[in-house]
Amino acid sequence: MNLKILITGVVQGVGFRPFVYRLATEIGLKGYVLNSESGVLIEVEGKKEKLEEFLLRLQEEKPQISKIYSLEYKFLPEKGYSTFEIKKSEKSGEVQVSVLPDLATCEECLKELFNPDDRRYRYPFINCTNCGPRFTIIEKLPYDRPNTTMKNFEMCSLCKKEYEDPSNRRFHAQPNACPICGPHVTFINEEKKAVAEREKAIELTVEYLKNGKIIALKGLGGFHLICDATNEEVVKELRKRKLREEKPFAVMFPDFETVKDYAYISTLEERALKSIESPIVILEKKEKTDLASSISPENSTVGAFLPYTPLHHIILKEFGKPIVATSANITDEPIIKENEEAVEIIGRIADAALIHNRRIARRCDDSVVRIMAGRQIPVRRSRGFAPLPVILPFELKRPVIALGVHMKNTVAVAKGNKVYLSQHIGDIDNLKAEEFFEEVVEDMLKLFEVEPEVVVCDRHPLYYSTKFGEKRFGDKLVKVYHHHAHIISTMAENEIPLEENVIGLAFDGTGYGEDGTIWGGEILIAGYTEFKRAFHLRTFRLPGGDRAVKEPYRVAISLLLEAEIEPESVLKTDKKKIGFIRQMIEKGINAPLTSSMGRLFDGIAAILGIRETVSYHAQAAILLEQAALKSETTQVYEFEVLNSEVDWRPVISGVVEDLKSGKSLPDIARKFHNTVIEVGMEIALKLRDETGINTVALSGGVFQNKILTEKLSRKLEEKGFRVLIHQLVPPNDGGISLGQAVYGGLIEKSN
Ligand code: ZN
Ligand code: ZN
Ligand code: FE
Repeated sequence: MNLKILITGVVQGVGFRPFVYRLATEIGLKGYVLNSESGVLIEVEGKKEKLEEFLLRLQEEKPQISKIYSLEYKFLPEKGYSTFEIKKSEKSGEVQVSVLPDLATCEECLKELFNPDDRRYRYPFINCTNCGPRFTIIEKLPYDRPNTTMKNFEMCSLCKKEYEDPSNRRFHAQPNACPICGPHVTFINEEKKAVAEREKAIELTVEYLKNGKIIALKGLGGFHLICDATNEEVVKELRKRKLREEKPFAVMFPDFETVKDYAYISTLEERALKSIESPIVILEKKEKTDLASSISPENSTVGAFLPYTPLHHIILKEFGKPIVATSANITDEPIIKENEEAVEIIGRIADAALIHNRRIARRCDDSVVRIMAGRQIPVRRSRGFAPLPVILPFELKRPVIALGVHMKNTVAVAKGNKVYLSQHIGDIDNLKAEEFFEEVVEDMLKLFEVEPEVVVCDRHPLYYSTKFGEKRFGDKLVKVYHHHAHIISTMAENEIPLEENVIGLAFDGTGYGEDGTIWGGEILIAGYTEFKRAFHLRTFRLPGGDRAVKEPYRVAISLLLEAEIEPESVLKTDKKKIGFIRQMIEKGINAPLTSSMGRLFDGIAAILGIRETVSYHAQAAILLEQAALKSETTQVYEFEVLNSEVDWRPVISGVVEDLKSGKSLPDIARKFHNTVIEVGMEIALKLRDETGINTVALSGGVFQNKILTEKLSRKLEEKGFRVLIHQLVPPNDGGISLGQAVYGGLIEKSN
């Protein structure tokens, strides 16, 4: 196996390459290290565990004076290096990365932070050139203090000396500050009054936490709502106030050792938790802990992360227990970033607020990753990663901007061989989200000085991003199919060469298809600029359209009727309701056709009685996976592949039969997962026979499912396929802008 790592930072002339050489040879890995025009490039080859060890130690043992600003990695097929060498540089001099992501507090700053003799003892804004805010304080380029939200803070003589001394680790650290000259925190109480500053404000925050209160806490890219994660009552209260019934909350732990008490952690998960990006990592929960159960109801996982700003470190150390840390917003609106907005929600959502006077230039939510199939798969790529580019294995023909789609949206600008992805924008479902989306579009164009010749959006005529694209960019606009863009994303980040084609399994909830139906269970033969729909799930009606997404029992009725099973004989749903839905389906009123795999998962979950309705996106499918994780059955339901259609009706009959014969829910759920894997296998083999294509790309939100991703990729590999899965951008719609940008940069321009 090959592990490819791209690092930017101060890694030249600091003994970094010799260090990499020593580490690689000590572990027994082959490959090379090279200064390239994109950063330090490392490729190492060896056994998977050795590569993981290398990754972890690279981060922990790097030379003291080296600085890592970004580190992204992916696993690729082995190329067969026979030695490890330091390759001759492609280009000399430091790599200039125009906009860096925000970096978690470094070890050295942490030591100073808790050293009573240091002049920055317990100073919540301590940072250096190795850590601190970047993307969220930059107002314009070049990245200099006057162009950041630090511009109003004049450095004191001591800070200035550090800033100007090339031998100091704060040399040209743009946000450099100290208690004398820098920003400070202020505590706002229930009456919306500023009642304390600095030390006293932090003391009050911790006191409020201990008393079971909810605080709006200003972070890097916006406010969090925080509360005691071991206090069931306050977590419940938070759900009520945030109008968020069940979607899991992220939990911030005081330190790595504490996380171990609450969850199981693998090497890659440990690396992710401790990385400079400091994302939320989805971990398997331990059985008996004191975490409030309503943090992730009915869920066996927990989204865990570590403190990543000095302020978080101080609060968590003082409080000594995990806290819930969830984006401060009203459900579905963008994260709050202004002090005034945070004060405004006191009394409604928060009990108090800890604000400060360093402005946030742009919103940036926390990132989320999950380790699956031995890869780090982003679920949300935002703080810590945005706006780092994805490096392509080829040059684009022209500069491009891609507007993304509608849910979990991101946008991307691209030129040359780089695609810069924005931070997470979210669902564009309300006025504030629309404004944020437009803000990000203009921001990305300005930051990366891109004058797009082509603008790419989705085929869906009603998406806000499509309508905005038409209005703002006119005839530069080019449209691409949702599932094609998904597959292009996977191809691009896995460095598939230009002329190659892949078998693309695009499994997700919703995407506008060629025939006007809602696609989502699609198997494509795809290249970067063209695709053919080779297979798809047999279509079924979605009674109520979008409402069926929130009410999976509607999908269940539709599936059962198709399989000629009386819904009343299976579902516990109210008979009147069933009759009503049945009419919609039979008359085809407001019941569009879909081939969605996501909906099939929802429908099965509803048939099993796991969920009739959901309170957050994909909840039914997630709970179905969790049920399946409890079973190890290898049984498979029958299904049929006819012409270009996968007929799932025998699956429904099989599920109902098992249900009636008293088979356990986990066994049925697992058997269904096995069936989907079998469908993927059978069609991939068929298509390989027909076309000779040996590469399979997996994309779409359904591949956030661990069983599916792990088992399907393993089985395909056993049959000799090369399997592409996401490692740099999310499999869900947050990764689509990458595919769109590549499409727009490569097509023959006819319009
Ligand atoms: Zn630092
Ligand atoms: Zn100072
Ligand atoms: Fe999608």
